[in-house]
Amino acid sequence: MRIARARITPFALRLRAPIPTAHETLSLRRGWLLALESADGHLGWGDASPLLGFGMEDEKICSDALASGARVLLGREPCELDALLDDVEAMLPEAPGARAAIDFALHDLRAREEDRTVASLLAARRGDEPRPSLEVSFLCTGRAPGEVAASARQALALGYATFKLKIGIDSLGADLARAHALREAIGSAARLRLDANAAWSPTQAEVALRELAAVDAELIEQPVAADDLASLARLRAARRMPVAADESASSERGALSVLEADAADVIVLKPGALGGLRAAARVAVCASAKGCGVFVTSLLDSAVGVHAAAHLAASLPGPRPADGLATGELFERDLAPGPRIADGRLWLPDAPGLGLEPSPDAVKACRCGEPLEIVA
Ligand SMILES: [Mg+2]
Repeated sequence: MRIARARITPFALRLRAPIPTAHETLSLRRGWLLALESADGHLGWGDASPLLGFGMEDEKICSDALASGARVLLGREPCELDALLDDVEAMLPEAPGARAAIDFALHDLRAREEDRTVASLLAARRGDEPRPSLEVSFLCTGRAPGEVAASARQALALGYATFKLKIGIDSLGADLARAHALREAIGSAARLRLDANAAWSPTQAEVALRELAAVDAELIEQPVAADDLASLARLRAARRMPVAADESASSERGALSVLEADAADVIVLKPGALGGLRAAARVAVCASAKGCGVFVTSLLDSAVGVHAAAHLAASLPGPRPADGLATGELFERDLAPGPRIADGRLWLPDAPGLGLEPSPDAVKACRCGEPLEIVA
């Protein structure tokens, strides 16, 4: 594989409705679209949209890292995918978002060259076949209990069976009211997933998990601070509900520390934060060896990042909890159509690579600055 040209386009995607989290209220997702063109004319796509709450680089570091990473790739002699990925990991240790964008684009290119999907390329590393579809969770919107329930009822009618609620935003009383409204809206058979985004002190978390046990949650993501693995492990051991590490596992080193500390029942894999598909797949292997579950989510990424995460998810062995990849509809406009979702399942595209082509019109509409062109 030899890279002949790169284009880095800054974009901003507006959310239809703001999404409150314990870190911040998100109304816009800014990032960079990376196109890598190989010498034989294939195009590979990647995106980077760093979120500071996940220990990622800031926007300046990310865009500088993307440009310097692309320049180094363009100067390389033809070589294998893993050799290029080794270089990118060594060169950009402090820029996981930029690494992920380059990793996505290189996997896309390699898979197109081999005329197979990225999921098939990833699964083949384990001598396996990818799955054609994945169960995905629905992220409830709205702040008031009635709004949460209304958004969940709409999704229930569309066939979703796993519903995720952001909590730790207001008081515990308000969280309880929203969680109970959600459980009432979806019935007892559906799975209800909670995400506290590191909002609570250890004592607050203990109280919250005791109170929230009544809503029969499938799991709770990140009840305490990312670096407080001792508290995470204690909450897990208390068995009020399964505990998932998300912010704690947003870097590869962090994820391995969670596994060493037996601090979680489940690891949330965010390829966009972990530095790409290869790093996320490594974490999945370590989690499986420890008997720890995994599911895959995007970082509220563009359709490019969602496709990349979906290919990783499809390459992993099942059964697993539902993946958090039904986020495309949350944007007013995206860089490309998202993967097809029907009856609460995401269907991987059959086309080679990531299986998407951002349309020039959509990219133009989402652009928020001049693209940077780099030619070998
Ligand atoms: Mg989370």
